Amino acid sequence: MSVLVINSGSSSIKYQLVDPESGAAIASGLVERIGESSGHIEHTYGEVTKELNDPVPDHGVGLERVLDLFEEVGPSLTDGSIAAVGHRVVQGGKYFDGPALIDDSVEDRIDKLSPLGPLHNPAHLAGIRVARKLLPSVPHVAVFDTAFFQQLPDEAATYALDREVAEKYEIRRYGAHGTSHHYVSGQASKLLGRDDLKQIVLHLGNGASASAVVNGRAVETSMGLTPLEGLVMGGRTGDIDPAVVFHLARNSDLSIDEIDNLFNRQSGLKGLTGQNDMREVWNLADAGDANAREALDVYEHRLVKYIGAYAATMGGLDAITFTAGAGENDSRLRAEVAERLAYFGVEINDEKNSVRSKEARDISTPNSAVRILVIPTNEELAIARQSMTLV
Ligand code: AMP
Repeated sequence: MSVLVINSGSSSIKYQLVDPESGAAIASGLVERIGESSGHIEHTYGEVTKELNDPVPDHGVGLERVLDLFEEVGPSLTDGSIAAVGHRVVQGGKYFDGPALIDDSVEDRIDKLSPLGPLHNPAHLAGIRVARKLLPSVPHVAVFDTAFFQQLPDEAATYALDREVAEKYEIRRYGAHGTSHHYVSGQASKLLGRDDLKQIVLHLGNGASASAVVNGRAVETSMGLTPLEGLVMGGRTGDIDPAVVFHLARNSDLSIDEIDNLFNRQSGLKGLTGQNDMREVWNLADAGDANAREALDVYEHRLVKYIGAYAATMGGLDAITFTAGAGENDSRLRAEVAERLAYFGVEINDEKNSVRSKEARDISTPNSAVRILVIPTNEELAIARQSMTLV
């Protein structure tokens, strides 16, 4: 039995058919530019990739075409082979501490949580609604990015904001990327053969976040009410004095939506260098661009600051794991971060660090006081496995 994992964005649908036992991705694809004048759909099964380049007016048409592609290119979904459809949902608020079987009331809750996840929840809901209509006989499960952090200790989740205001507007640290942090911290325990670990997971992709996990339970996350807080990201500021918003609102001609866009899309590496892809930033730095080198320093400084803070709050540190695009592939970044962590007794093996691999691995020396791991994340597999727990 397989699970169809769906991640709907505002103008895209990414999907993967996953075997939750072996972890294999049986088929995958994406629908892009939904609602625009030119659309694009790509479906891959085995060696075959089929592309369609017609406009896709809405999520419903997009998903209908994807289901047709499953029948045309394979594998057929009509023979009862899928056990569940797993939907990624970014914001579960205070209501979901694990996956949820989707019924009308869960849909309604995801809808009501849209103010806390305005960039994501409405898009997820559009995908969920059409998928339930098109695949009515299969259970649909919502897997929330915030669920792993729902059990954060209150002292880590609470902002020092007026209680009444915080309660009324449901303001607290929800975190994000939780499915990845949950999966990767579990794989780290497996790799080290220990559950009793004080570990830090660094999810360094276009979005970036850090978490602290003690004995399998999340105790800290760098992302906050929204995924804007924390580390320097491809296009997001991460931590910034909130008074910068007041300052810009009072003194610039930017509207609140423009400031939102500035902080969420035009800042981070992009704001500092013009590029949001870490590879491009390295290229610029290698060519002598001082802004790019400074951006790398700001990025690494922020990371090390979080690692120090998390080691202090956990009262120890056994392992740091690098994951996601830059975490898995950027050996120079890992080497520079490790060098900045010499105080913690961190020592990596340069040869092991430079190996490119899809395997979970320990790149630290036997003498290192902290295990330094590289573990590929696999959110689709994690969503598939969580979905199977409910069906
Ligand atoms: P993700 O969001 O996990 O897909 O990660 C995407 C980001 O990973 C890209 O924007 C790049 O910045 C980064 N990335 C991917 N491959 C590499 C690489 N070989 N070296 C440095 N960064 C990389």
